Amino acid sequence: MTFSDLGLSPALVKAVAEKGYTKPSPIQEKAIPPILEGKDVLASAQTGTGKTAGFTLPVLQYLTATKHPKYRPLRALVLTPTRELAAQVHDNVREYSKYVNIKSAVVFGGVNAKPQIATLRSGVDILVATPGRLLDLISQGLLSIKDVEFFVLDEADRMLDMGFIHDMKKIIAKLPRKKQSLFFSATMSDPINQLAKSLLDNPAKVEITPQST
Ligand code: AMP
Repeated sequence: MTFSDLGLSPALVKAVAEKGYTKPSPIQEKAIPPILEGKDVLASAQTGTGKTAGFTLPVLQYLTATKHPKYRPLRALVLTPTRELAAQVHDNVREYSKYVNIKSAVVFGGVNAKPQIATLRSGVDILVATPGRLLDLISQGLLSIKDVEFFVLDEADRMLDMGFIHDMKKIIAKLPRKKQSLFFSATMSDPINQLAKSLLDNPAKVEITPQST
């Protein structure tokens, strides 16, 4: 199985080849096809499995294929629990989008918001964010998520552990009803399943058992 076999465009295949990836990881093989088909996905996957490329590559593919020639509304939102993870996911998004006309940005708390606001003003297709700063920017009228077509919840279990449930619900309430949602969690528990059930519409379920070393 190659990245091209999964249906990814030459521009994305070139970017992952430059990263040194020779073939898709198991989570990528399982998650990329249903995402490209437009399905919601519920994925149980740990860090280190290649899950970031698993959701980023098909989102980039769809955004590039359906890009508006003039406007650049925010079309994809990736929510992560920590700023470290947000920065890391955004680094990946930038690398994978090297050969496509897609702009991305990252926003998180604990740093000056001004540069983040300036970047948002210039127009971005994909935003990676932590919940608190995202809600701040929305409440100040500096950002709208009403046109988001892809919503990715990364490390949902950590998000709950860190007490973000209310922020997450507030954010989900501001998203449009019609969207494709991708839900990633290392572990599955009752609260996680409840949240997934409230967000996802007939999701494809993707499970990866971590390989023992
Ligand atoms: P993640 O689970 O998304 O945090 O990714 C873990 C690490 O695996 C990152 O350093 C990625 O750059 C790397 N990676 C992702 N996909 C592949 C792949 N198909 N082949 C080799 N390395 C990969």
